[in-house]
Amino acid sequence: MNNQIYKDRKIVLLTKHKKEEVIKPILEEATGCSVIVETRFDTDKLGTFARDVERTKSQLDTARLKIEIGMELSNTDIGIASEGSFGSHPYIPIPWNVEIVLLYDKRENFEIYGVCENGETNFDHITTDKFDDVINFANKIGFPEHYLIIRPDNSSSNQVIKGINNYDWLKEAFDLCLSNSKSGNVFLETDMRAHANPTRMKNIKKATEDLISKLNKCCPNCGAPGFVVSEVEKGLPCELCNLPTERILKNISKCYRCSYIREEMYPKGNTASAQYCNYCNP
Ligand SMILES: [Zn+2]
Ligand SMILES: [Zn+2]
Repeated sequence: MNNQIYKDRKIVLLTKHKKEEVIKPILEEATGCSVIVETRFDTDKLGTFARDVERTKSQLDTARLKIEIGMELSNTDIGIASEGSFGSHPYIPIPWNVEIVLLYDKRENFEIYGVCENGETNFDHITTDKFDDVINFANKIGFPEHYLIIRPDNSSSNQVIKGINNYDWLKEAFDLCLSNSKSGNVFLETDMRAHANPTRMKNIKKATEDLISKLNKCCPNCGAPGFVVSEVEKGLPCELCNLPTERILKNISKCYRCSYIREEMYPKGNTASAQYCNYCNP
């Protein structure tokens, strides 16, 4: 990094799911900081993917809270946190993972995050009463490197066994859940915690790399990191009638430190296709 703002500073990472394995080397190499791993707080209290603790805040606000707790526990003025979400793609029915890696520098009052968003995830579940189905599911999702979670009946049962990572334990857990089941079924799902899911860990790594590439964009006026597009202005004129459309007219980057502003006109071309025009294509 061509500025030294993070050099030799201690950046806290609050995690008990081994996220330091991907975040620490990348961040230390790029910035010259040292990452301290803080494990004295159970981050599962802020929400779990297995729904036993509901996440009440947004993905970004949960990451902010992790940083706040981490800075408090370790007495540092800068922190980093990762927070993921899993669900369906907004338009097509495929599983979708969004990972963010957030950095907050309290001394500079500066916040920035990297993102990785894609369908590269094994996020899935089945309900079954047959161990053959369990084995097929396990093979499909990349067990035992990717761990499993099992419970009796359905997704909301509070008898839950997490972190299953070998076949003997899987059989034992299946038998136990089946014998405790009222419906005669078990609910089996992928364990999405970072240490339990190498595919997710890869996406956390990509989000960290995205964060670094954003930090590496520096203000042309004062050199502060993170000089990235933070706002867009719509209104690109229609190619036919010249009226403003919803397409982007201008990108705006603003330095958090010196407030220098750069406006980039026409980042997506000089005119918008008439298909985006409310007048030509209502
Ligand atoms: Zn600046
Ligand atoms: Zn038009």
